[in-house]
Amino acid sequence: MRKIIHIDMDAFYASVEQRDDPSLAGRPVAVGGGGPRGVVAAASYEARAFGVRSAMPGFKARRLCPELIFVRARFEAYKEASRQIRAIFHSYADLVEPLSLDEAFLDVTEPKQGGPLATDIAKAIKAEIRATTGLTASAGVSFNKFLAKIASALRKPDGLSVIRPDQAAGFIDALPIERFFGIGPATARRMHAQGILTGADLRRRSEAELVRSFGRSGAFYHRMVRGEDGREVRPDRPSKSIGAERTFESNVAAVPAMLERLRPIAIKVAERMATGASFGRTVTLKIKHHDFTINTRQTTRPWPVQDATELLDVADWLLRHPAPPARAVRLLGLSVSNFARAPGGQLTLGLEPPAGRR
Ligand SMILES: [Mg+2]
Repeated sequence: MRKIIHIDMDAFYASVEQRDDPSLAGRPVAVGGGGPRGVVAAASYEARAFGVRSAMPGFKARRLCPELIFVRARFEAYKEASRQIRAIFHSYADLVEPLSLDEAFLDVTEPKQGGPLATDIAKAIKAEIRATTGLTASAGVSFNKFLAKIASALRKPDGLSVIRPDQAAGFIDALPIERFFGIGPATARRMHAQGILTGADLRRRSEAELVRSFGRSGAFYHRMVRGEDGREVRPDRPSKSIGAERTFESNVAAVPAMLERLRPIAIKVAERMATGASFGRTVTLKIKHHDFTINTRQTTRPWPVQDATELLDVADWLLRHPAPPARAVRLLGLSVSNFARAPGGQLTLGLEPPAGRR
């Protein structure tokens, strides 16, 4: 049986900002832009208490929390903290799989230090992260990636949760469906509509039933709810493309609405590009229509896409050429490939970064 730890930094970008500017400590902070085109990339826990969430338009965040302080993203600072935490991870395990700048799976079945108990190792890693970076992390410990990932989210911030094999079934049964790793908000709503509210509800559905309702993902859900996740922790590998996609709760018919939906997707992809310092020249737009037909549009530029704004501009063009989608769409995705190194290494989210705070 494997021992997996999932480590997730708490409100990472916002915590780095609060660490580096003590006047922000204990206050609602959003990293990102507060103007008409701005988007929240990260929110401090004080801001989350008002309902501010990442990927939310800046004006909406400001409406929820008038005291909200917007700060511009400083990717160099986040990357530096990320380098520090990765060095810590690698001192405990060879098998480290980063999911983003602030999150990784570690396979500690045969750890390099810290003793035989994964819980002790998780505690030691958390303490070392705090001592080195001044930041807190939450850890989840279990025997597979799915459960370790869910465990790390149970007690945030500064949490440590363990799901042992004999606890897995009871734990999954009680878990609200929207907390499952791999079930997004749109799928969760469809499950709710079918009376699937918890893991126990999901477990009662046959594989055939789930595949009928959710396609290939149905088989994945069927395995997950039984705690069956054989996926290995894969050490950092250079990927050929970086992308993200979203399924919408209702179909989207107008181009401006589609662009609005593409904005958080572009941010996610830009973050992933920044994480790997991989900037691609080829942009692919994936469109799934309401009848499930899939269409992709692609363009290659002479220089790499640098940030979310450039990515959105390319997506805008792809959406309109040769013509806007003739039918309503239920999913949009963006991916970038054909990587090149970024000139100058300046990494920004690019979405209307304010000059200082606003
Ligand atoms: Mg995090």
